[in-house]
Amino acid sequence: MRQLSIYIAALVSLFALAAYDPLSAEIEAGGSVNVDACSGDPTRLGVSRVVEIDSAGGPNVGGDMRGAQQLLNDGEVVLTFDDGPMRSVTKPILKALADQCTKATFFMVGQMALADAAMVREVAAAGHTVATHTWSHKNIRAISLAKSQQEIEAAISTVSQAKGTPVAPLFRFPYLNSTKQTESYLKGRNIAAIWIDVDSKDYMTRSPKVALQRILAQLAATKKGIILMHDIHAWTAAMVPDLLKELHDRGFKVVHFVPKGQIETIASYDEAAQKALAAKAAKKAANPIATRSIVWPMSPAPTPLEETDVAAVAVPGAKHKANRYKKVSTKPSITDGLTGETSETPAQAAKNKKAVKPKEPESVWPSFFN
Ligand SMILES: [Zn+2]
Repeated sequence: MRQLSIYIAALVSLFALAAYDPLSAEIEAGGSVNVDACSGDPTRLGVSRVVEIDSAGGPNVGGDMRGAQQLLNDGEVVLTFDDGPMRSVTKPILKALADQCTKATFFMVGQMALADAAMVREVAAAGHTVATHTWSHKNIRAISLAKSQQEIEAAISTVSQAKGTPVAPLFRFPYLNSTKQTESYLKGRNIAAIWIDVDSKDYMTRSPKVALQRILAQLAATKKGIILMHDIHAWTAAMVPDLLKELHDRGFKVVHFVPKGQIETIASYDEAAQKALAAKAAKKAANPIATRSIVWPMSPAPTPLEETDVAAVAVPGAKHKANRYKKVSTKPSITDGLTGETSETPAQAAKNKKAVKPKEPESVWPSFFN
């Protein structure tokens, strides 16, 4: 009898073991997957290689820049997502990446990080590389060097403060537009500029299939490359699971870019970012519904010739192609740009519109956080 109960107990624990799948449990728990649970699973894309980017001296990496470091072998890709985080899109992308045990780099916009600091931390907690893409997605070629520096530093400090630890010293130029001066500035700051080899052009379509085909067609020609996508489009989130499956089935390997060194943030920007994040958190606590929706804070699009990374927000329900994208000015204050809220009455707005704006002072960066 005793032997029988031991036998039954053993059988019960065997069934319990068989039913427990640690990988599924971890994915269900929050999208972050333990590397050990993923390693050696040939059915998933995974990460084939981690490449440490030495950002000392601010190298150019990838793309067709003269002298840029080409770190990929044939068959290797790097997954990159710009312009977010935007919870409704970033979250399902994190899930898709976790399901395939793979890693990406997110080039975040400072204003977006301020709007949803928790999302920044979720991306980082899932093991992805968090880097920056300016404060408000300005076209660097259209603004002064001083303003460019403010755009760069405000993003670095805000995303770092939102994340809780410094971001990677990796930067992507909005619209892939740089100037010699800003490139020199990055070199002096020991920040690497990460360019692209394969452009999903997911801002030009609303079809996940079209964006996927663009990527696969370019990869067929290039055989490798840094892939540009945007985690602000619902159709991009819808595409990513299929892309990862196709990459796996076609034998591509994912390389994860991680920083070798640590970025040095600037104290004054850190301080302003802390204040802005605290103010944002207080505002959210006071009125969670009003601060929930986010409008992507887009700077005016560059001239068509320069348009390589068109920042755009889809207008829901837009029927005509020309109306698909709504241009949003970044002139308004941060809360206006991100939530659509405004404290102005129509009369005040009209008055403000009439008022002649003084020329921007030499140092305007604190206005980022007003
Ligand atoms: Zn962008």
